[in-house]
Amino acid sequence: MAELTSISLNHPVKLQMGTFYVGVWGCQMNVYDADRIRDLMRAAGFVEKTEPQGADVIILVTCAVRAKAEDKVFNQLAAWRHQGVITKDTVVALGGCIGSELADQILKLDATVNIVFGPRTAHRLPNMIARCRTTGDKVVDVEANALEKFDALPEQGQRGASAFVTIMEGCSNKCSYCIVPYTRGEEESRPEQDILDEIVTHVAHGVKEIHLLGQNVNSYRGLTPEGTIGRFSSLLYEIAAIDGVERLRFTTSNPMEFGDDIIQAIADLPIIADSIHIPVQSGSDRILQLMRRNYTSDDYRTLIGKLRQARPNIYISTDIIVGFPGETDADFNETMRLVDDIKFDTSFSFIYSKRPGTPAAEMADEVPLEHKRQHLYTLQARLEEYATQYSQAMYGTRQRVLVEGVSRKNEHELKGRASNNRIVVFAGEPSLIGSLVDVDITQVMSHTLKGQLV
Ligand code: SF4
Repeated sequence: MAELTSISLNHPVKLQMGTFYVGVWGCQMNVYDADRIRDLMRAAGFVEKTEPQGADVIILVTCAVRAKAEDKVFNQLAAWRHQGVITKDTVVALGGCIGSELADQILKLDATVNIVFGPRTAHRLPNMIARCRTTGDKVVDVEANALEKFDALPEQGQRGASAFVTIMEGCSNKCSYCIVPYTRGEEESRPEQDILDEIVTHVAHGVKEIHLLGQNVNSYRGLTPEGTIGRFSSLLYEIAAIDGVERLRFTTSNPMEFGDDIIQAIADLPIIADSIHIPVQSGSDRILQLMRRNYTSDDYRTLIGKLRQARPNIYISTDIIVGFPGETDADFNETMRLVDDIKFDTSFSFIYSKRPGTPAAEMADEVPLEHKRQHLYTLQARLEEYATQYSQAMYGTRQRVLVEGVSRKNEHELKGRASNNRIVVFAGEPSLIGSLVDVDITQVMSHTLKGQLV
């Protein structure tokens, strides 16, 4: 390996050029962080590998929201060790929310890990790798100011037709079951101009769709160029005014702080996509209170009513936790009643996962796992029913599709996303990749639609 001086970041360091592989688990914010790590590593002189075999540095960005995600990463490390993918010379860096949550413990849990980083310290990775290689020491670095990362990262690389843009870090809501406020820290918003500049760079690279990310985007409060504090709704109008942004999505938009100003922006700005994800978590007011969600199921119904009035064709998806400590059959029935009232589109549902250190982890949880599983099956079957009905209703309609690439199943077909986030597959030339086209829906399959280019 040749030697290279890092174009650096906080402190210039001597780095050995080599190869790296990035693996990612978890939410879109982790996907964004993983993309930025790739930009960073390339800028520091490393060459990316798409497989972990033979990589000098393996970087894993992982999730801590459910215990299952943590188990997965340690199982993966064990498998790679067994297969000889990780050798004594491989530098293994493990980070993301798991890094903040478990920090020093990770080094005890898996001896092959050399570096532990947090969601706020990913930008220091080249320096951590250099330190580890020079001294042979293990490095744990998980504490930093939330916005330092964004200032230190290099310019964005190519992203394809759609790009994630993180507008804020952390969350201050402290829902009783959630580990995120302890791993990503308190909410901090990026300055408005930094976000707009990042989007302009993406557009210059051919990106058509911007997907804004934050744990709770409604509470965005970023510094404006005028020195005032801008709200999320103003940010939406600013982004919509950028030439070349053709579609705008945002996640996660919690029911808390979903003000009328945001609803008005959705009514005013046709570039905001027709699908919105608003986690409700439960339909029982008693459970919502235990979860510390600060709204009732009727508040949620009212919010969705207003949204549908502002944008009649909007598709609402959600997250639901089943089997929260103390959840009774009556509570679960309230959730089912809400599902029937709202008729959610494609949604996510999970059995509650106890996260040590959260208030809910201390609550008595006497509901047998089998009972929780039964509730989950019942819920998922109903959610699937509504999602299928929405797909079927798209038969014969014309959809505006952002073409993302070639279909995995048929190289003569392209795949893209409709405004409501459904995947649409159709015959077309690869030159269409990255553009928005009209497609008539001619066939509805369980999770994909087939169509004909207009
Ligand atoms: S809003 Fe609640 S569930 Fe979402 S990240 Fe914040 S604390 Fe966690």
